[in-house]
Amino acid sequence: MKHRYNTISQTLQDQYGQRIRKICVDGGFTCPNRDGTCGHGGCAFCGERGAGEQLDASLSIRRQVEVALEHAAPDSKWILYFQNFTNTYAPVEVLKERYDAALIDDRIRILDIGTRPDCISEPVAELLASYQDRYEIWVELGLQTANDNTARRINRGYDLQCFREAVSILKAHGLPVIVHIILGLPGETLDDIRHTIDLLNQLKIDGIKIHSLFVMKGTRLEEWYRNGDFTPISMQTYIEWALDCVLRLSPDITIHRLTGNCLRELLAAPDWIPQRDLILHTIDRRMYRENLSQGSHFSPASMDCST
Ligand code: SF4
Repeated sequence: MKHRYNTISQTLQDQYGQRIRKICVDGGFTCPNRDGTCGHGGCAFCGERGAGEQLDASLSIRRQVEVALEHAAPDSKWILYFQNFTNTYAPVEVLKERYDAALIDDRIRILDIGTRPDCISEPVAELLASYQDRYEIWVELGLQTANDNTARRINRGYDLQCFREAVSILKAHGLPVIVHIILGLPGETLDDIRHTIDLLNQLKIDGIKIHSLFVMKGTRLEEWYRNGDFTPISMQTYIEWALDCVLRLSPDITIHRLTGNCLRELLAAPDWIPQRDLILHTIDRRMYRENLSQGSHFSPASMDCST
């Protein structure tokens, strides 16, 4: 069943004429929200590795890429994704050194950098833009929500204005912006989520990753969950809310992800998170049955969102 929303896999297939796969790399960075620069302990949901738990950080950056490409077909094409923690959190010379250490093979076509808005600056954007003659560059920003009260509650460590400024810097350098949002954050309602989507439409971001808040072992969120201070949303609620996002999202934005993923051994709750296929099929079936598609509920008027 073809999705009735813009998926990144289809977009890349159209653009490159073949499937493009992803190499995830741990670039050896940390995060200002963990080392005390802007906060301690990190975002409440963030695990010890800052994502990319499956990666072998004992290998050099170059070796991680070599291992990933060891059995890759000669005509295959790849996205190189710097995943763990904040991959623009270092002096520009160090960033360049680490990106260059990974860009070792012509089959890599896209350099994808996961980071935080407070680690985007003019020099960082200039460096990233300097790769654009050889690669497609993506920058992924973890926003999670446009609601600053929720952001404080989860200890995100920057405010919405900071996010707006980062998007503006990246856009000014022609760099595509992919934004991560989370559904089911503590205290958030569907109205909060709609407000986040309206803001992203307004800022004309290029891509979005959506997932449900899940509880990873060893996080502050797990303490809240065990104490009864946080209850994850149900799968049914997630499906309703994710569908609502897709319908409200501008048709110009590409959806890079619509479900969450967590290593089973690290997942504390909820137990439905691994049922990704069921979630996506349910959304697809609803969209077909009700003749809905991405942007069905998008209204340019909702883009007048000033907060
Ligand atoms: S910004 Fe990212 S890496 Fe840093 S604490 Fe939050 S989720 Fe973890």
